[in-house]
Amino acid sequence: MPPPPFLPPATIGILGGGQLGRMLALEARRAGYRVAIFTDESPGCPAGQFADLEINARYDDQAALARFLSAVDVVTAEFENIPDVCLQAVEGLKPLRPSRKAIHTTQHREREKLFLRDQGIACAAFRIVENLAELQQAILELGFPCVIKTAAFGYDGKGQCKVNADTDLATAWQSFEGHHAVVEQWVPFVCEISVVGARSVDGRMAVHGVVENQHAHHILDLTIAPARITPAIADQALELWEAVAVGLDYVGTMAVELFVTADDQVLVNEIAPRPHNSGHYSIDACRFNQFQQQLRAICGLTLGDPSQHSAAVMINLLGDVWPGATVHPDWSPVLNHPRAKLHLYGKAEARAKRKMGHITVLGDTLSEALESAAEIKRAIFA
Ligand code: AMP
Repeated sequence: MPPPPFLPPATIGILGGGQLGRMLALEARRAGYRVAIFTDESPGCPAGQFADLEINARYDDQAALARFLSAVDVVTAEFENIPDVCLQAVEGLKPLRPSRKAIHTTQHREREKLFLRDQGIACAAFRIVENLAELQQAILELGFPCVIKTAAFGYDGKGQCKVNADTDLATAWQSFEGHHAVVEQWVPFVCEISVVGARSVDGRMAVHGVVENQHAHHILDLTIAPARITPAIADQALELWEAVAVGLDYVGTMAVELFVTADDQVLVNEIAPRPHNSGHYSIDACRFNQFQQQLRAICGLTLGDPSQHSAAVMINLLGDVWPGATVHPDWSPVLNHPRAKLHLYGKAEARAKRKMGHITVLGDTLSEALESAAEIKRAIFA
């Protein structure tokens, strides 16, 4: 017998206070749930702005955690870099979805890569190294170019270093000294894609489809939905997403980022145990969006229809576009456009590379959405 579902006005507990928590909180409150946020950010954080309760404390503050846990019925996380002591405390008292094991595996590149290898899931060839000698040996085996990535707490290209034949390895290793690192073969990809979907408590899965991602300075810049790929590549990507979801016995919304190579191979790059930036288009372009699916999955309900009803392009808005820390760009080209929607995350100050919001541009066809997106980008980024 599956456990009974959580129905409104149950309280959804969210670990983390950023934009992903905010968009989940919005969906939860729309459906009549209550929301409690636990975050180490300052009061009034993006998710806290839509919460019934916001607790601001360190993730290892047991007294604050106990207060949070006494207020919630079910707990999820809006980012993966949550200390294990916190996950343990939550797991001992309330349903944690996805599980501590799924978050623990995917919050650390070494554990994630070993999971992929164990499950036989295609990814770039890699070695785990702890010192310069092991790095040299790994590169001898993998060949140039390679990329060194910190095992712990890396995202959006942070803690990464590409090495070529002319790179001084001793210098490159300096910033990784004393840590575990993953050395990965460089993948000469033709495009980057991702799959966002959800898995329910009873193991049913629903994915939004495959989207194409363009990055600038390692941060997502544009998502094109659906991806301009062949059905055979899309099938491989969907199979890989399913293999990861089943392998982790995952419950909730999960994203898998993938590389497509020139010879039509699809390789897993990264797993995100939460909704994902590349799934934001689903808010405006899918019957059920990634946050509604997350809510249904963690509450033990049947997933909604994830299918896409309009072609879409998502433009990420980083703080770099803001003329000043608190001075907004002129949003009128978006707000006056009949098929563009502005989403801002309520962050008090803009900073370089900080994710401040996104724009979704819809179209009857993908080329129409791409044309409108280019027009809006020209107007905003001019
Ligand atoms: P990550 O933080 O691992 O997702 O990496 C950020 C970006 O760096 C990816 O989206 C790719 O554009 C690039 N990248 C990371 N790993 C590799 C690799 N092994 N080969 C080629 N590009 C990579």
